[in-house]
This record gives sequence, C-alpha cells and structure tokens, in this order.
Amino acid sequence: MIVAVFSTKPYDRHFLAAADPDRRHRLIWFDARLSAETAMLAAGADAVCAFVNDVLDRATLEALAAHRVRLVALRSAGFNNVDLATAAALGLTVCRVPAYSPQAIAEHTVALLLALNRKIHRAYNRVREGNFALDGLLGFDLAGKKVGIVGTGRIGEAVARILAGFGCRLLAHDIAENPACVALGAHYVPREDLFAACDVVTLHCPLTPDTWHFVNSALLERAKRGLMLINTSRGGVIDTRAVIRALKDGTLGSLALDVYEEEADLFFENLSDQVLRDDVFARLLTFPNVLITGHQAFFTREALSEIAATTLANITAFEDTGRPIHGVSTDVVAPPPAE
Ligand code: NAD
Repeated sequence: MIVAVFSTKPYDRHFLAAADPDRRHRLIWFDARLSAETAMLAAGADAVCAFVNDVLDRATLEALAAHRVRLVALRSAGFNNVDLATAAALGLTVCRVPAYSPQAIAEHTVALLLALNRKIHRAYNRVREGNFALDGLLGFDLAGKKVGIVGTGRIGEAVARILAGFGCRLLAHDIAENPACVALGAHYVPREDLFAACDVVTLHCPLTPDTWHFVNSALLERAKRGLMLINTSRGGVIDTRAVIRALKDGTLGSLALDVYEEEADLFFENLSDQVLRDDVFARLLTFPNVLITGHQAFFTREALSEIAATTLANITAFEDTGRPIHGVSTDVVAPPPAE
C-alpha cells in the first residue's frame, strides 16, 4: 500500500522503515501535521499514518475520503483526535496501537514523581553552578504514602506494580476494577475520596467526553492540601487554569505533566528561538514546583519498535483482509481488555 506518514521525525522514519524490511509498503514521509490544510498531501495514498497531535476532524476526514484514502493508521494508543463517527460514515477504517509498552509510560510517570519529589531538576542546576545548599530541596519518603491511580488499565496497572514495590498504599478510581490492581492492594474509591485521601495522584485514563477536565476546580477543592498531581495521559483530562489557581493557593503542592491541553502548537518541535505565545503554558513554567516534559513518556527504543511493528501489521492486515488487527470504531465505548 502507499502510506502517507504525517508528523514524522527522523526517529519515526528509522523505526517504521526498519519494521518493513522488504519494502512491502511505500511509505511517504511528511514533516507536516495532518489537518484539513495538509490532507491534500495524501493524494494517491491508500492510507495515512498519523500521530497524537494530527487533527482528524470532519474536514480532514472528508478531504482524505475525497482523495480515496481508505485507512487511518494511528501510531498511538489514544484516538481522541479522530472523529470516529465521521470516519465510519465516510467508510474510512481507523486502527491504532493499543499497547506498545505500558512500562515506558509507567516508568516515565514514576521518573516524574521521583524527580518532582526530590527536586532533581533543581538540584541538577544548582550543583552545576556550584550551589550545594539544600534549602528548598526537601522531599518526602514515598514508602507508606497514599498514591491514587485514576485509570487502572495497562499503564495504570504498570504504575501500580512499581509503586507497590516502593511500599506505597494504593487507591484507585476507574469505571471498571482491574483484579490485578486489587491483588496489588489497591482500593477502588470514588474520585472525590481519592483526591481527598491521597498524597500523590497520577492520571492514566483516556481523554473522552467523560474525562475531559476530570481534574477541575470542584475536585481540587476536595483534594488533600499539598497534593502532588501527575499527568501522563492526555492534556485535556486536566483543566489547566484550575490547576494553576490550585498551585497559587497551595492546594496543589506540586505538578508534573508530560501532556498539555494545547500541546499541539508546542510539543515535538524546537521552538527555543521563538517567543512563547501560550500564556497559560508560560505561567506553568514560572512555578518552582512544576515539572514538564514534552510528551516523551512513550519515547523508548522498545516502545518505538513496537509502535512501528504494530502499525505496519495493521496496514498489512488491512491490505490482505480488509480489516486491520487493532481497529477502532464508534463501538469502542470501553477500552479493550488488558492483554
Ligand atoms: P487502557 O485502555 O489500557 O486503560 C485506560 C483505563 O482508563 C481503563 O481501565 C478504563 O476503564 C479507564 N477509564 C476510562 N474512562 C474512565 C473514566 N471516565 N474514569 C476513570 N477511568 C476511566 O489505556 P492505557 O494503555 O493504560 O493508556 C491510557 C492513556 O494513556 C491513553 O488513553 C493515552 O491517552 C495515554 N498515553 C500517553 C502516552 C504518553 O506518551 N504520554 C503514551 C501512551 C498512552
């Protein structure tokens, strides 16, 4: 098949090309993000391959269908950026990579937690400048602390395993209990109770209409004072302005983000010689107790290999049988069962 691959970086090209050593498919690389404006680049392609910040709304999908594209192969687990109803109406098949390396995201989550708690990012800068003072670097023992996990699917479960090893007391919130998390000692509670009880809360639910702004002012008002909040799921799960207010009044003790509501205009690019236009993001950067990475939790060799292999397998299966291995449809109201 001819596949127009959008939002590609050198590492995407390397891993995707390596996953198709016999060159069965013709992969055409585009740096551009996929949107209604760039969909014309897919003219002549059978499939598009898209990433997390590509915009697959009605206008884009209509343009792709007009160019006779038949498959949207997402190289991500999340599919919140696709208008699935329109895709179905247009006869476009959508597929994704449901589980490439839950450990990659879980380990980055715990890296953020530990770095934020022990102020590693600040200590690194201080030591380089010959400042060996410890004031301002005080952390807490993680052992024995209550950690809340919102969304106990593949990634949430992997986080639970690591944190159980640290001796944390686990609370969880999900629309469905995961027996593996219960076996690790997690207690499922309503979200308000989880936020009221926990010292740390980490978010691992998908972005859906139900989880949009899941963390909002009302919930933060119920939170334990000084809470550490970590989000490696999707930016829209947090109301960023509410979180900034909570940081200012001390309700939130610290915040680590790998994702941000308006990240599409920022992340994955080197903007270091440009003026930052996003005032909300700029405000976040002013807090000493906020640590941000630019959507890199997935970025391990193992995860990129698996993403590439599954994406190519989806495309090959679609060509051979008319159905990808990991299709996504409007029927997907609940995520597939853990593997
Ligand atoms: P998963 O489908 O295995 O688990 C998601 C869990 O969230 C499920 O247990 C589900 O029941 C739960 N959930 C759904 N709606 C909920 C709600 N309203 N309230 C509470 N829980 C709810 O998915 P996963 O593989 O664990 O991935 C989780 C999310 O992580 C993805 O959807 C994606 O947005 C994000 N992600 C981020 C990165 C990154 O690089 N930062 C990489 C991969 C995935």
